[in-house]
Amino acid sequence: DGIAALVSEARSRESAMFTEAQAKSLLAIFGIDVPRGVQVSDGELIPEHLGESLVVKAISSTLVHKSDAGGVRVGVSREQVAEVTDQMRKRLAASGHRLSGLLVEEMVPAGHEVIVGATKTPDLGWSVMVGLGGVLVEVLEDVAFGLAPLSEDQTLRMLRELRGIKVLEGARGGVRADLSPLVRLISRLAGPGGLLESLPEDVVELDLNPVIVSADRAVAVDARFVVS
Ligand code: ADP
Ligand code: MG
Repeated sequence: DGIAALVSEARSRESAMFTEAQAKSLLAIFGIDVPRGVQVSDGELIPEHLGESLVVKAISSTLVHKSDAGGVRVGVSREQVAEVTDQMRKRLAASGHRLSGLLVEEMVPAGHEVIVGATKTPDLGWSVMVGLGGVLVEVLEDVAFGLAPLSEDQTLRMLRELRGIKVLEGARGGVRADLSPLVRLISRLAGPGGLLESLPEDVVELDLNPVIVSADRAVAVDARFVVS
C-alpha cells in the first residue's frame, strides 16, 4: 500500500527517512494538524491560500537538521520567495548538500514549541516521549515517557509530569495554551487506532519537532520518520 511505498523509497535515500512532505501527508491522514504547504522546484507562483507570511524549507536527502545548514527561513513574503530560494540553493551547495526542491508553508502563529517523539523498543512496542522545546528539553532534560497505546487520560498525566508544564499553561503571562489540542494530537499519533499502530515494522522512530502549541492549535511543523 501507500505506506509500504514510502518505506522502500526512504530506504533508497541516504537519510533513510520519509521526506518532510511525505511525513506530513501521513500525519494529516490521521487528523494531525500540519501547516498547509506546497513543494516547488523554484521560486514559482505560491498559492494564495498559504497566506502572506511564509516559511521556506530546503528539501534534500542529505539534510537532517535543516536550520543548522541555513535550510529554513521563516517570515518570508510571497515576493521574497524567489530570492530566498536562490540564496538557500547557493548556501546549501557550498556545504555539499544537493537541493531537490523546496517546501513553502504557511507560517504558523507563534506558540510554545513541544517535541513529541516515538521510538520502537524490542519488547514493549512504541515508547512515546514528550518534552517542551528548546532550552527546556536540551538543558533541563524536561521530558516524560509513556508506552503506546496511550489513552487521553494517560497522555494528560504524562504532560503533567513535565516540570515546565506551567510554561505551557501560561505562567507569568506567556501565551496560554489549551492542552486539549496537544492531547488530541498525541492520541491521534499514539492512541488506540492511531498512526503508530498502522505503521509497518520498518518504521522505527519518528519525531515531531517542534509541535507549535498556541491558544487553540497544536501543529506539527516538522516531522521525521526513520526507517530501519
Ligand atoms: P529543522 O530541520 O532545523 O529542525 P524545522 O522544520 O524544525 O527545521 O524548522 C526550524 C524552526 O523553524 C522550527 O523549530 C520552528 O521554530 C520554525 N518553523 C518551521 N516551520 C514553521 C512553520 N510552518 N510555521 C512557523 N514556524 C516554523
Ligand atoms: Mg525541527
